[in-house]
Amino acid sequence: MWPLWSFEFDAPPLNHPNTNAVGGGSAGSVVAARLAKSGKNSVLLIEAGPDCSSRLLNIPVFSPLLLGSKLDWSYKTQPQFDACLGLDNNASLWPRGKVLGGSSRINNIVYMRGHSRDYDSWGDSSWSHQEVHNYFPHRTTNGNVSESELLRGFLPVNELPWTTDLSGAMLRAGEQLGYTMADLNAAALHRGNKRQYVACDNVVCYMLPFVSSAAGNLATKVGCCHVFPLFPLAVLLSDKYEAYGVQYRRFGHVGRVRARKAVILCAGTVGSSKILMLSGMGPKHHLQSLKIPLIQDLPVGQNLQDHVTTGLDLVILNQTLPLNVANIASLSSALDYLFYGTGPWTSPGCEAVAVVHSDLSDPETDPPDLQLMAIPSGASSDDGAHLYTTVGITDKVWQGYFAALSGQQVASFLPVLLHPKSKGEILLRDGDPNSLPLINPRYLTHQRDVDTLYRGILLIKKIISTPAMQSLGASLNPNIMPGCEQYLFDSEDYWKCYIRHLTLTAYHPVGTCKMGPKSDPSSVVDFDLRVHNSHHLYVIDASIMPSLPSGNINAAVVMIAEKGVEIVERYWAHQAMVCHKREVFLPSKVSLKAMPPILSTAWTAPQSMFSEPSVTISPLYSAPMGSSLFSHLTRPDSSGEYLTLWFLCQKPVEEWLPNPDAPPV
Ligand SMILES: Cc1cc2nc3c(=O)[nH]c(=O)nc-3n(C[C@H](O)[C@H](O)[C@H](O)COP(=O)(O)OP(=O)(O)OC[C@H]3O[C@@H](n4cnc5c(N)ncnc54)[C@H](O)[C@@H]3O)c2cc1C
Repeated sequence: MWPLWSFEFDAPPLNHPNTNAVGGGSAGSVVAARLAKSGKNSVLLIEAGPDCSSRLLNIPVFSPLLLGSKLDWSYKTQPQFDACLGLDNNASLWPRGKVLGGSSRINNIVYMRGHSRDYDSWGDSSWSHQEVHNYFPHRTTNGNVSESELLRGFLPVNELPWTTDLSGAMLRAGEQLGYTMADLNAAALHRGNKRQYVACDNVVCYMLPFVSSAAGNLATKVGCCHVFPLFPLAVLLSDKYEAYGVQYRRFGHVGRVRARKAVILCAGTVGSSKILMLSGMGPKHHLQSLKIPLIQDLPVGQNLQDHVTTGLDLVILNQTLPLNVANIASLSSALDYLFYGTGPWTSPGCEAVAVVHSDLSDPETDPPDLQLMAIPSGASSDDGAHLYTTVGITDKVWQGYFAALSGQQVASFLPVLLHPKSKGEILLRDGDPNSLPLINPRYLTHQRDVDTLYRGILLIKKIISTPAMQSLGASLNPNIMPGCEQYLFDSEDYWKCYIRHLTLTAYHPVGTCKMGPKSDPSSVVDFDLRVHNSHHLYVIDASIMPSLPSGNINAAVVMIAEKGVEIVERYWAHQAMVCHKREVFLPSKVSLKAMPPILSTAWTAPQSMFSEPSVTISPLYSAPMGSSLFSHLTRPDSSGEYLTLWFLCQKPVEEWLPNPDAPPV
């Protein structure tokens, strides 16, 4: 008899976890909390980063300080050929949260659910906007929520308590340009949105309390979810592709933890694809070149997509806005935040958002292709500290473009490319789990992406010229981007050169474990989020998105987690019913007359601890026999014969443990 789990070193504090969730970020913390909360599951949440509960992390205005800190994986892309030309080594810095709560702990808390057409294009009716919209967990509130509400998954979405004049001016500018104002989240998802432009201000999501509640409070309160700081190396797979645990490293030692029901990867777009490839599931040639034993040839790491933006400090104002270093550092700002929950410390940076259809997309059939984010402070206002450390600009760009803005009131309307045509990939650098992966988003390799962002610049110019923005004395930053001197300032060629130099990530990479049918050679997981051809191995995080939503993506990640948990639990419920399965081909005449066989002919030793519920017991076909639940189902096979499936279920699948087929640890 095999042990249910065993360790070579450092036993995690949970004796019989039935689920290993790897990665406690936006998705992972929700997955672990929901599974544990049901009371039926014991969950081991494996997170590489610390459980940092400091309340300082929750102060929105300071979140940029976390970029590049020890709570950030601090990835960097490969040098780009057509983009990032004004960044050091032509590479983009790629922050990702390395802390319990993941990237939601370091993000800008803007809440957007995207557009209905985003989800309708994901390839399966079970993920259409009709199906997914109930899984978006937000509730609009302007008050504090109680801990019990947080524990119930109540995700408060508040209006910003404090803004500068920029957000109001931007919204009025939109109206003056003939666009419609609406609640972006309500309009975008629930109604078939035919507007050319919808804008809403101040819709933000206080994700942090939710996530820390989910991962921390629920973990300890429910008592059957344990968070363990480990560095997972690979998923353990049997020769039947059954995931039965995780190999990890801690304090320099390698150990293994067994999962009785499932391994769920929630390590994000970079982390999940990296772990799968280290486990032998990835592009065949790539794994073979690194001498990683191939288990399955899958397009893991491919289909990488990211929202791209540009236009930092493109707008100069002749009025001072109160979101600046001096005001943030003032005692009154601290007191406002601590005692009244308002003031500059509550600012997440982005004050207002708009989504639009440029003339390159069809408002009747396409989701919007551009987003604008209003930022009321200059990235250059701190003498380059932010631009050097979190954007990675070159000295040449600082000196030639941004330095001259010091002391001026600048602002940004960042145009975000919502549906990039350029796709990249993530590969392993080598077979060492410690090595940072090779991230190549191939930004702007598709000309259409530059054309769309250029439309964004044109829109910014229009906004600046409205009476609303003129009341703030808005004008276009006249500095020439170093590297684009050969073009006439403000010409189309100039702006396209500018876009290729100041190419910035909007921090929303997705798609490296793409969800799709098995017949889609670019997909990695099926619509139930199971890795193709494997058992009990799921991916639930941003990496499964086939394409990007039209907006900031954290809400969609949480939706995926909420829905993913339901899928997994439904599967387990089926498992308890579908037990032994035997497929028997019978001539049609025989099969049509098929009667339940005697017990001895129906019983088959289980080949697998977890039978695939390819057919579930239907009341139409099932017939009780003694104390066991007995059923059969007959359907025509392509050969003209009839395929008869016999089921015999006497006890819940969990009682069959341990699995005699699983290899020893
Ligand atoms: C700077 C920044 C600003 C953003 N702003 C916004 C915003 O305003 N609004 C919005 O909607 N979205 C925003 N996003 C995007 C959003 O936060 C992410 O898309 C989302 O958090 C991704 O969730 P995830 O669960 O897929 O991954 P993550 O939240 O990144 O979680 C992955 C977790 O897995 C862990 N992990 C990774 N690899 C391993 C490993 N090998 N072993 C163990 N653990 C591992 C990580 O430490 C992390 O905790 C922002 C992102 C960033 C980085």
